[in-house]
Amino acid sequence: MIPTVRDIDIAGKQVFIRCDFNVPTDEFGNISDDRRIRAALNTIRYCLDHDCSLVLASHFKRPTPGKFEEKYSLKPVAKRLQSLLKKEVIMAKDVVGEDAMSKASNLKSGDILLLENLRFEPGETKNDIEFAKKLKKMGEIYVNDAFGASHRKHASIYALPKLYPKGKRAGGFLLSKEINFFYKIVQNPTRPFVAVVGGSKVSGKLQALINLINVVDKLIIGGGMAFTFLKAQGYEVGKSLVEDDLIEDAKKIMKKALEKNVKFYLPVDVVVAPEISDNVPIKFLPIQEIPKDWMGLDIGPATSRLFREAINDAQTILWNGPMGVFEIDKFSKGSIKMSHYISESHATTIVGGGDTADVVARAGDVDEMTFISTGGGASLELLEGKKLPGIEVLEVDKLVEETAQ
Ligand code: AMP
Repeated sequence: MIPTVRDIDIAGKQVFIRCDFNVPTDEFGNISDDRRIRAALNTIRYCLDHDCSLVLASHFKRPTPGKFEEKYSLKPVAKRLQSLLKKEVIMAKDVVGEDAMSKASNLKSGDILLLENLRFEPGETKNDIEFAKKLKKMGEIYVNDAFGASHRKHASIYALPKLYPKGKRAGGFLLSKEINFFYKIVQNPTRPFVAVVGGSKVSGKLQALINLINVVDKLIIGGGMAFTFLKAQGYEVGKSLVEDDLIEDAKKIMKKALEKNVKFYLPVDVVVAPEISDNVPIKFLPIQEIPKDWMGLDIGPATSRLFREAINDAQTILWNGPMGVFEIDKFSKGSIKMSHYISESHATTIVGGGDTADVVARAGDVDEMTFISTGGGASLELLEGKKLPGIEVLEVDKLVEETAQ
């Protein structure tokens, strides 16, 4: 377990919070989805209520390291945060430069400073200790609330917390909530535990599937990855997405499911089209009948019904990956229906992955889910059974004592 802000003494101190403000923006640079900013508010408010001054830091997309570029500035985030908190957020002009340092050293209790995009500094992605030492000057306490970045060994996630002794570093509420859902529910779920996995490729989720097969009661596969499994079963899948090099792995997973008595579900019908486009004819066909030059781009209505039946008795449902090319309306029905079915169930429902969270938002089911993860890559690594560097560094005392300087 990691200590949270509640477990350490933060009263009146200057707290450095590593947030994940890596929000999506539209073509005009407007924030199109501020869930990640909202998700950080609990920890921020808790610290403000304890008379802290705050230094907030985050990365934002992928700027060229070492170069300031206006389009990667966190200024729009400062504005959104300000309106959400109804409180001034001071924006630094740099990350660890003169402006940030002087503003950080003049903060009073209740003040909030947001540093510029951490990735403007080359030291961030290199996990550079010298850069971390500069960041440390700005906070007496270190808090990691950036779950979505905790699978990366970057300076603000990994090198920096190592510089803080026990009692001066902790996880924020968002981080601990994510850990709670992913670690605990996957390790000790209320059964039946059903995993619904979709998305484009098997390769991206192979390790997660291998890990999940050991813990679930049912595994439901949809999306593009289903076709590698269907081909492994001998079906002709036309031009559908198939990873031929993973057919053997797909067979192994299905064999293991059988051995472990895990019920395994694949689509029985699909929505097919000649190509991925809005302007093409579509057909609803059983998987036995996919034409040679067509591709499967969504699960069909019979599959939706089958999957609904399969999750009917679930007590815990984990969903990662859309059932089809949901970005295009005519291929989004299977994913939208899946979202409705999962949200209507009486199970504890956990949604992971940015695309899946988008489907749930589009379906209008956000409030109906038990928990929607803010970190796609990070939640997948937890499902793979990996320890995330940003979490490990908060829980392992020895590691910290050894390297603290
Ligand atoms: P992932 O990042 O692996 O979770 O995959 C998400 C992507 O998978 C989305 O952009 C979907 O458009 C895509 N996808 C889902 N189903 C299919 C399919 N049948 N064929 C091709 N791409 C798909």
